[in-house]
Amino acid sequence: MSIDENNSVFEKIKQDNHEQLVFCNDESIGLKAIIGIHNTSLGPAIGGTRMWNYASDSAALEDVINLSKAMSYKSSLAGLNAGGGKAVIIGEPNLKSEKFIKRFGEFINDLNGKYWTAQDVNMSTQDILWIKEKTKFVVGLPKEHGGLGDSSAPTAFGVYMGIKSAVKHISGKESLEGKKILVQGVGNVGRKLVGHLLKENANVFVCDINSKNIDLINDTNVTVVDPENIYDDTYDIISPCALGGTINRNSLKNINCNIIAGAANNQLENDTDVPEELLKKNILYIPDFLINAGGIISVYHEQINDIDSKKVMDMTELIYDKVSSVIKYSEENSISTNSSAIQLAKDRIKENSKK
Ligand code: NAD
Repeated sequence: MSIDENNSVFEKIKQDNHEQLVFCNDESIGLKAIIGIHNTSLGPAIGGTRMWNYASDSAALEDVINLSKAMSYKSSLAGLNAGGGKAVIIGEPNLKSEKFIKRFGEFINDLNGKYWTAQDVNMSTQDILWIKEKTKFVVGLPKEHGGLGDSSAPTAFGVYMGIKSAVKHISGKESLEGKKILVQGVGNVGRKLVGHLLKENANVFVCDINSKNIDLINDTNVTVVDPENIYDDTYDIISPCALGGTINRNSLKNINCNIIAGAANNQLENDTDVPEELLKKNILYIPDFLINAGGIISVYHEQINDIDSKKVMDMTELIYDKVSSVIKYSEENSISTNSSAIQLAKDRIKENSKK
């Protein structure tokens, strides 16, 4: 990681006004992690821990900076009294052991509740339970350990609400009957989303690189598409529920749909020309950090010790109205829905900073 004059860590953290970056190191067990705390004006920073074998330490820094900022926007838009944070552990997941994860838990504990962690890529439920042995500042626990359990159900429900709201905006009716919808990635969230869509008699298409997850759907009304050729067809709605970065300058040359609305984090390759290109192509893009908030809504309820799944779902249902507000603001100000969502999130954070 270079600390030269033009590209210092301080320049990076100032760029999006991050409050704090914490570098964690325990050479004896090969533990290297960065905790990013973007903003705590609305409340303690909440966001998961991701373990990834980054190409470089700079790439890990870049990731934690972007992810923690997105968490601030996500919590702000969802109306939560929570700030944005995220942690990345650098390395292959096979580095993990009980000792390794518990040591990481101690680093979280040192922050004394300014940052609360949860599960993200390459972190297991067992890891979360080991972290719990070292700190109380961890959420996303299984039900039998006093938590609200798997957050993919509220996440899928929020995406479903967001899709309905977007459809209502375009067609005047929120019904999904007969709508041709591609769900890209049918893991925990995608499969549950497919369930909601089928109940409305939507015309559902799915793809996944893991055929076992396709097999779990087991419904003859669903059409399976080869993940390599998904953009050969036209759809009413594409719902990215696999990995980030799928909406990029390249894929946009082939994408033909009216709406993009899915659960995957960081779907857009960038916040500049990609949203502009979506506007030009007349595709209504519903920002991921707006509609995939069901998961953060769930872990937030654990953080405030309100273990009530119904409240989580009721709050997640409000994503329908929030999508309408973001579209309205984007139209009023002639900006992309991505910029509109970011602006509305920042406004709420700024409002609270003054208090
Ligand atoms: P998951 O790992 O259970 O499912 C992802 C699925 O995508 C897997 O079945 C995988 O095989 C498939 N996939 C990967 N690459 C693919 C490709 N190129 N083409 C097609 N399929 C591909 O994850 P999940 O919990 O269902 O989450 C889905 C997305 O939503 C992720 O990006 C995640 O970060 C995001 N998200 C999840 C939650 C949650 O509560 N689980 C909350 C917010 C955001």
